[in-house]
Amino acid sequence: MQLDTVTLQILTAVILLMVSLSMPILMGKGVSRAARCMQASLLAEMLTWVLLISSSWLFDRVFSSLAIACGAISQWLMYLAVQGWVGKRQFGRLNLALMVLGPLGYAIGFSDYAFRVGWANFMVAGQMLIVAWATLYPRNQAQRGWRWLLGFALLMLALATLARGIVGGFFPDQYPSFRSPHPINLAWLIAVNVTVVLGTVAMMVAWREEVEQTLRDLAMKDPLTGLLNRRGFFDLGEAALARARRHSVPWVLMMLDLDHFKRVNDNHGHEVGDRALALFARLMAENQRAGDLAGRIGGEEFGVLLSHANPAAAIAFDERLRERLLTTSKAELGFELNFSAGLVQALADPENLQSVLQRADTALYRAKGAGRGQMVQG
Ligand code: GH3
Ligand code: MG
Ligand code: MG
Repeated sequence: MQLDTVTLQILTAVILLMVSLSMPILMGKGVSRAARCMQASLLAEMLTWVLLISSSWLFDRVFSSLAIACGAISQWLMYLAVQGWVGKRQFGRLNLALMVLGPLGYAIGFSDYAFRVGWANFMVAGQMLIVAWATLYPRNQAQRGWRWLLGFALLMLALATLARGIVGGFFPDQYPSFRSPHPINLAWLIAVNVTVVLGTVAMMVAWREEVEQTLRDLAMKDPLTGLLNRRGFFDLGEAALARARRHSVPWVLMMLDLDHFKRVNDNHGHEVGDRALALFARLMAENQRAGDLAGRIGGEEFGVLLSHANPAAAIAFDERLRERLLTTSKAELGFELNFSAGLVQALADPENLQSVLQRADTALYRAKGAGRGQMVQG
């Protein structure tokens, strides 16, 4: 088998050109920051290769230094993409430092072949290891398939790059140029191609999962108030109740309904009514603690599930909210809003959310009957 390095290099450049140009067309406008970083990373990688190949004929020092810089930037952008998808990652500063030091050292030490080849390969291999680590660890989310794929592809590439740095840096006579058919160089070129293909697949899957998650979030959210909608409240509420039961955590549920809301619409118009609903939701969100669940379960009816809470906590929540609502609605809408609420506590028997809400609704009905503007415990 006769593998030829120049062919492999040109192939890499052509594949990267095709992939990096088609990606933005395929993914369209309005993609997330993470997806844009991923597109830019591929573009930078493509430039790396075009510059590397061109440097054989033109401006060797300038073009190959720029190529190293593009490669380093590409790794940094990939790190940002991964971070956008899986959350804050480790070693960001180190990655940034390697991104600057790699091309800088290469350009400065250009006249020393062994130094520049060793240096550039070690620096970028360090960046690849950081991105691979960032992809695989910490496992703060379910370790999804694309993370394994991208992480191990980058790990393999990092090891091949390290080996290339060792050969170029310490045995330069065996590896006199970028085109040398040294087995390590051939293995590295194959690793680059494999990583481009696997990495692209992995990132497309990451992007698809992100789009799916956005759609799921959208399906559970009420657009007017930004709170969970009925469906979201039921989905997450059932899960929260099951968790609370498993860990024997006390919880309470409140159902809140704005008083005489029809009059608000009648007297001030539907648009002011909408603003009033948004205001109420904002105050609810401000008053809840992390882990509490608030949702809009009907027109002007809301539900709050407080876990790790007893009726006293719910009464405090109710009082805070009522006070804030009275003053804020007067200031922002020009009239006072109030609400009635029904409060229920956990029962010993496993009970589904629907039936808990029914009990809360009965308590709420009693609050309305008792003159509104108050909370009744059921
Ligand atoms: P009560 O004190 O007994 O709760 O009286 P109420 O007028 O609040 O109750 P009712 O159920 O009779 O009326 C609820 C009103 O809420 C009727 C409906 O027009 C209004 N509403 C429901 N959804 C929306 C919405 O999205 N925007 C606006 N502006 N109004 C809404
Ligand atoms: Mg009402
Ligand atoms: Mg109502």
